[in-house]
Amino acid sequence: MEQTFIILKPSTITRGLAGEVLKRFERKGLVIAGIKMMQLSEEILREHYAHLVDRPFFPWIVESMMRTPVIVAVIKGDDAVAVVRTMTGATNCRKAAPGTIRGDFGMSGQENIIHASDSPESAEIEIKRFFKPEEIFDYTPLTLPVLYAPDEV
Ligand code: ADP
Repeated sequence: MEQTFIILKPSTITRGLAGEVLKRFERKGLVIAGIKMMQLSEEILREHYAHLVDRPFFPWIVESMMRTPVIVAVIKGDDAVAVVRTMTGATNCRKAAPGTIRGDFGMSGQENIIHASDSPESAEIEIKRFFKPEEIFDYTPLTLPVLYAPDEV
């Protein structure tokens, strides 16, 4: 099964929405393969948001993402990267569709609740950036037969 990577951003921790967001993935049938709280550094943010370091708003991102610890998680399921991105919604919460996480919980383009990997390649790199191999658990959930057809898992 495919793995993807998410960050519950400091705004989500501060607003007490971490459980609400995680609950959506659990209800969907995705599986948590790894999860922890950590304080991000400017160094890791420069790497993670390398495509944005030259943008004028980058210092705001650093300040925002370091305001409190974050929760990082590895989420597993068939097509997990695409499924989680669809559930996440458009970058700007004001434009994100109702029913998506950003569409339901936010009002901002910057304070947009969650990071989610945008491709399987990014997911692989991001999981390695934030997790040690022993922090990811390869267990088989008992729910699999009621979540998927035999040829889907
Ligand atoms: P996404 O998180 O949807 O993959 P990007 O990779 O383009 O989007 O941007 C990374 C993060 O940078 C966004 O989630 C958001 O927090 C922040 N960001 C993007 N564009 C802006 C902007 N114009 N102003 C402020 N913050 C922004």
